[in-house]
This record gives sequence, C-alpha cells and structure tokens, in this order.
Amino acid sequence: MAGIVVVFDFDKTIIEIDSDNWVVDELGATDLFNQLLPTMPWNSMMDRMMREVHAQGKTIEDIKEVLRRAPMHPRVVPAIKKAHALGCDLRIVSDANMFFIETILDHLGIKDCFTEINTNPSYVDDQGRLRISPYVDFHTSPHGCNLCPPNMCKGMIIERIQASIAKEGKKRMIYLGDGSGDFCPSLKLKEGDFMMPRKNYPVWDLICENRALLKAEIHEWANGAELERVLLELIDKISIQESNNSNLAQLLSVDCKFESIPMAGHEALPPPLRVHQ
Ligand SMILES: [Mg+2]
Ligand SMILES: [Zn+2]
Repeated sequence: MAGIVVVFDFDKTIIEIDSDNWVVDELGATDLFNQLLPTMPWNSMMDRMMREVHAQGKTIEDIKEVLRRAPMHPRVVPAIKKAHALGCDLRIVSDANMFFIETILDHLGIKDCFTEINTNPSYVDDQGRLRISPYVDFHTSPHGCNLCPPNMCKGMIIERIQASIAKEGKKRMIYLGDGSGDFCPSLKLKEGDFMMPRKNYPVWDLICENRALLKAEIHEWANGAELERVLLELIDKISIQESNNSNLAQLLSVDCKFESIPMAGHEALPPPLRVHQ
C-alpha cells in the first residue's frame, strides 16, 4: 500500500532493549553512567560515556559487536520486511543515535526497508571515538515542547513528515512506540491514522490516562508477535478502505457519465452497484 507511512520508534520497539543502556552495560560502564546521569541530559551523557569507554581502550569494533548482539523478538524483522514488501513507506523516529541504529539495521539486513531515519547525529572522530550530538541544539534553538526531552521533540518530526507526505499524496500513518517520548507524536496523529503503543510501557500508560486527546485509532501490542499481527492487520484494513474509496470514486465518475445519457436510455442500465459491502 503505497499510501501508508509506518513510523517506528527504535529502542524497545524494533529491538527488545534500550540500545544506549545495552551498550553502556555490555561495555562495563554502568556504574559510571549511573554516577554521571544526574549531572547532564541523557543525550549529552551518551557522548560523555563514549569518551569514557574510548579512554578505557574500547574500540568502534567493540561497540559494533555489542550492538549486533542486541536482543530482538524473532517476529519483528519479518513484520518489517512484509510491511515493506506490501509497499508501505517505513521510517524511524528515535532518540538513540545514527551509529547504533545503522549498525543494527545493517546487521539485520533491513536498512534498505526504511526511507528515513530521524535520530541524534553521530560520527566516529579521527581518534576512533564515537561522538553523539543532539538532534536539536537546545542551547541555540530549543524546540519549546514541554512533553519532550530537550534534544528531540518527536511530535515536531511527525508534523514535518505529515507535511511532506501530504505533497506525495500519502494519506495514512501508523505509529509504533513504547516510551514517554512517543506520547507527543501520538497527539499529532490525525483521524484515520493509527497509534500502536506497546502495552504496559510508558506511552501506553500516558495514552490510557489521556485517551480523549488522541484522534488516531489505538491498537496496543505487547510483544513482537503481536506487533507483527496488529501491524499487518492494520495495513490490510487500510488497503480495503482505500480500495473501497477508489471504487466509490470510479462509480461517481461513471454516474457523471450517466447524467449525459438521455432519459430513455436509463431503462436499459444495470441497477446501481452498492459500495462498502
Ligand atoms: Mg522506545
Ligand atoms: Zn514534543
């Protein structure tokens, strides 16, 4: 379905864990992380942690090796491949970082399924240290959304995607996420869109408390198997609705032609077709 845009959060949605915590823990830097966390924003903290692990002799290859071991539910990759094969436009909106996400997607062989990855920029400097910067520079141009962390408002990203897909004639959006940062974008979804919150995770709690604020239809999922089932059901449902709509449009254009036929000719015409059966 070329008309459907599916937006995925990354941590605890595509992969089973939080990639930042996973890398810090697996590289043995958890204590330092917990010690420093109260002193700076999370995103700045990750850049600092990459400096620490680099100073301890950990290489980019060590970080990649940890990322390739990130736990996954076995049904998530097939779900993504199927949605892509059905013609959906798949995108990622994540507060992790480009290096972590690209390393994992490359390893899973699904990077080409996505048309866009919106996340915190990162690069490897000439010392071989991974640098991570905020998606939004909150010192020079704060995003001003009080629901979101200072470095990223996912709601703003969704609004940008909505504006760009409207130009491409794509109409419907499905959003999947688990975290509190996925609540702001869920408020931006429109009637006809679908929100897929992970059950018993922060975004699900927030949505349960504020259901009336959402225009999108809500479909929860608890694990990768349910993610696959619910996502494919929604794509199917939208496809049926869209094909009914295009049948209706065709019928209406046929009706217009009928108007030009002289009255006598009407007797010979077949009875009107019913739509929405
Ligand atoms: Mg998440
Ligand atoms: Zn926001």
